[in-house]
Formats: sequence, structure tokens, C-alpha cells
Amino acid sequence: MRPEVKGPEIKGWCPGALRPMMSGDGYLVRVRPPLGRLSARQVAGVAALSSQFGSGLIDLSARANLQMRGVSQAALDDLQDGLRDLGLLDVDAAAEARRNLVVAPFWREGDDTHRIATALQAALVGAQDLALPGKFGFAVDCGDAPMLTDISADIRIERGRDGLICRADGAAQGCAVTVENAVAVALDMARWFQGSPEKRMARHLRTVDLPQRFSGTEALPQGAPETTGLVGFAFGRVHAQVLARLGAVRLTPWRMLLVEGGVVPNHPDMLRPDDPVLRVSACPGAPDCAQGLVTTRDVARALAGELPAGSGLHVSGCAKGCAHPRAQEFTLTGQADGRFALIRNGCAGDAPVRSGIDPRALSVAPKDLFES
Ligand code: SF4
Repeated sequence: MRPEVKGPEIKGWCPGALRPMMSGDGYLVRVRPPLGRLSARQVAGVAALSSQFGSGLIDLSARANLQMRGVSQAALDDLQDGLRDLGLLDVDAAAEARRNLVVAPFWREGDDTHRIATALQAALVGAQDLALPGKFGFAVDCGDAPMLTDISADIRIERGRDGLICRADGAAQGCAVTVENAVAVALDMARWFQGSPEKRMARHLRTVDLPQRFSGTEALPQGAPETTGLVGFAFGRVHAQVLARLGAVRLTPWRMLLVEGGVVPNHPDMLRPDDPVLRVSACPGAPDCAQGLVTTRDVARALAGELPAGSGLHVSGCAKGCAHPRAQEFTLTGQADGRFALIRNGCAGDAPVRSGIDPRALSVAPKDLFES
């Protein structure tokens, strides 16, 4: 029998700092730091604002953003003023929404990634004619080999087999670009997509042929990610007091921070990139998220130590699967009756192989889940 799975509410837009989203624990204020970087002053400022106007809990998103949680309606104006003083607020909500850009975090000042991302960011803010779907985004990934291939993005400027390319997500080839013209080509591609009934490029390409001008050069496979200076936090959640211990950081789409200078302080909340807890993703679930059907992170913690080596686990409060939108080896999805459904090698909304799993049983005998 199929479990009773309540369909998640699809809002169709993403929260921002100027357009916060109400959640189970108050407003969620998403900050998109320019180029994914926070200076030491900005790190200290964000931590202080989160403690003063929110719950002091900050989530790292899969698109290299920060989400300040637990903000009350009364505190919103003061929080936004504080972000503006830190240089972390866009001119308006539309510009903030257009600036949907993930930057490979290991860039150096003046390299291709830095130059292109800086120009693309400015161009997106100025491109008032662009009206792209809420989740439609760009990736700039011009190191020796691409490292954002499996990160959600629709238009990618990356290192290809014969130099820089601009590639539509889902296409095996991109078109050759230079540092000077990459942004113009990316915006041309965005305008070509604009008006599609689809919300994402890869789906668009299932029914529409990519024009020849956006093709011709092979993409490269994903390269091995660097790990020096990366610090993780269980389920991507950082407490403001812990964040305040760090100096300048880059945000990464792996829900980790890259500490500039590479020296990570000693703190029990700061995890090395190979810590097994980081192989488990879990969204806030109930009660923090209004759509959560179950609590997630207590179950995820209980299971983390038993996860077989090399495997991945995703615990999702509902079928939306926010914490890991892609397939995972083991996925537990909350059901309307407060139990879990188990999905193997799929996403949170896929058909389960088991349902009606009692969360108490998972806490008592976590190993059983992986042996079934
Ligand atoms: S997946 Fe989690 S965070 Fe996303 S809507 Fe469902 S309960 Fe909320």
C-alpha cells in the first residue's frame, strides 16, 4: 500500500533578504553575499544581527547562501538596515532575485572565475528586462576543472576541453567564450530561454533544440574538489556565536564554509570535510518549517554513526526534499502520519520501497535501516 504522503506546497519563488519567507520559526531571511564572500567584518556583523534580530541560527544553503532564521516581523526593518550597512542588501527585490549566481569558491583575485563572476553579478543587477523563473540560476566555475557540475544551475560558464565555455545545463557541449565576452553570451542564452513554459534549462532542452551558436565545444567532467580550509557543520546549521569565531569566509554550495587563509579554529561544532555527519543531509523539518511533517535532525543524528562507509543519507521533512534535491542512496521522507517512507537511490518525492517506519524504532535500532 502506498503511504499517505502529503504533497509539499510549491511556493514558486525563493526567499531573499528583501523578500523574506515566513517559516515555522519566524521569517527566513536569505542573504546572497556578493561573489559568495563575507569579509571578517561582514562575518561578525551577520553573527551579531542574527543574534539580535533572529534566533541566532544560520543555515548554509545548497546555492552558497546564508539563511538567518527566526526573525520576527517587528525586527525585519532593523535587520535589513543592518545588512545594508554591511553591503549585503541589493537595491531592490527584483535585482536580488536576478543575482542568482553560484561561484566556485576557490577563486583568487583577478583569475578568470573572479573576473567573470564580478562582471556577471553587475550585469544581472542591471538587466531589468530579464524575468527568469525563481530558481533559474548561473554558475561560474573556471578553475582547472569544473567543480560545480552537480550543483543546481541553468547556465554555466566553466572550463571546457578547449578553454572557457558557456554551457546550457543539460547540454553536453557549450560554446567557446573568453573572459571578455562570457557574460554577454550567458545573457544571450538567458534571453533565448526566457518565455519557456519550463522553469529550468535542462527540462527546456528536452523539447527544444539548443541553437548552434551555444554549442561546439565539449565540456569537461567534474574534477576532484579541494578540501583545504573547508569547514562543515552538522546539517549545514551554524550558531551565530560559532560563526563569529571565523574571519573572512567564502560560502560553498556544499553547505560548508571555506576559511580564507585555510586555518580553521578548533571548535566541536566545526567539522572536517570527511566527518561522517556531513554525509547526512537533513532539512529543518517540523516544527521549524511550516510544511514539515516530521522532525528530521534527531533521526538524522541517530542514523549518522551507522551509515555504511561511502553511502549517503537524506532525511526530509516532506516530499519537497529541500536539503538534497538530487537522488541519494538512502532517503527518508516524512509522511502525514508522522512516520517515514524509505526511498532507495531516488529523491524525497519518489516512490518508496518501505513506508510507515516509526521514528522511535530508527532511534533505538538505527542499523536496521541500512541492513533491510
Ligand atoms: S523538505 Fe523540509 S524544509 Fe523543505 S518544505 Fe519540506 S519540511 Fe520544509
